[in-house]
Amino acid sequence: MTTTVDDVPAVERVAVGQGTPEGTNSAYLLPERGVVIDPGPPTESAWADLQAGLERAALTLEAVEYVLVTHWHADHAGLAPRLAEAADATLAMGDTDAPIIADYAAERDRRLERDAETMRTWGAPDDAVAAVLEGDRPSPLPDSFPVERLADGDRIAGLEVLATPGHTLGHVAFASGANGDADADTGAVFVGDAVLPTYTPNVGGSDTRTRTTDPLGDYVETLSRLERRPEPLLPGHGTTLAADRIEEIRSHHHARTERVVAALEGLEPATPWAVACELFGDLSGIHVKFGAGEAAAHLEALETENAVNRVEDEPVTYRLP
Ligand SMILES: [Zn+2]
Repeated sequence: MTTTVDDVPAVERVAVGQGTPEGTNSAYLLPERGVVIDPGPPTESAWADLQAGLERAALTLEAVEYVLVTHWHADHAGLAPRLAEAADATLAMGDTDAPIIADYAAERDRRLERDAETMRTWGAPDDAVAAVLEGDRPSPLPDSFPVERLADGDRIAGLEVLATPGHTLGHVAFASGANGDADADTGAVFVGDAVLPTYTPNVGGSDTRTRTTDPLGDYVETLSRLERRPEPLLPGHGTTLAADRIEEIRSHHHARTERVVAALEGLEPATPWAVACELFGDLSGIHVKFGAGEAAAHLEALETENAVNRVEDEPVTYRLP
């Protein structure tokens, strides 16, 4: 069975913004609880979409009490401070991603430095790194804004917070069923970018804070956690998830792991950047970060299983055992 928002009468989906490669962003409204989840990208057109959606759902700004955000990426969190301010509502996020919005200006500077250093560690050449930084434009967000920090298992506005790391370090999902019941009217899990209908969420390049962790290992655990939920899963882009979508994403990652090993066989020793170029061809713009990050995440997971050896740290370089 596919899962779609039409199955959950207490929830309204609003398509916000122009769409990204993953599909149009989904803001979800729970009018009875005064909740808006992932209000959308920080653009005027998305703001207009959101206002129209609130009106359709008969949810007035005064009645919005909580703005909940699954992760720090601007296409999800971008309108959150503006909406929280206009509605005098509480903005809340997972505690690990919260600082990136709460302290946006300073965290952005730190992120750019970290992104550059990380891409160099992955073996990306200086001109490719410079092009990524050049294309990374600041979002129109306040320099700082109060954000309530949520931990795994917390409840807010009757929703349960589920830590779902991988795509970002502090990604969370929100479950609206009472104690995990698949309540036909209200039960759903808002999964943000943890599970998407057509794209496989980027892991490794979409949050360089994950570099010192095993983001792919964490992400595979996230998939298992979400797969066990009885409620319909509602994605942060698009409307509908196929019943076997999680299985499909998992097998995509298995296939990619095999391709990473095959690429390493031909190249070794090799950096994540070299493996990414072998796998994805010429990488430019933001794909430098995403592609090399994806290869790095696979190599890290392989290293955890002792299936590859790290032979150098700067740039990080791998060999088959
Ligand atoms: Zn994202």
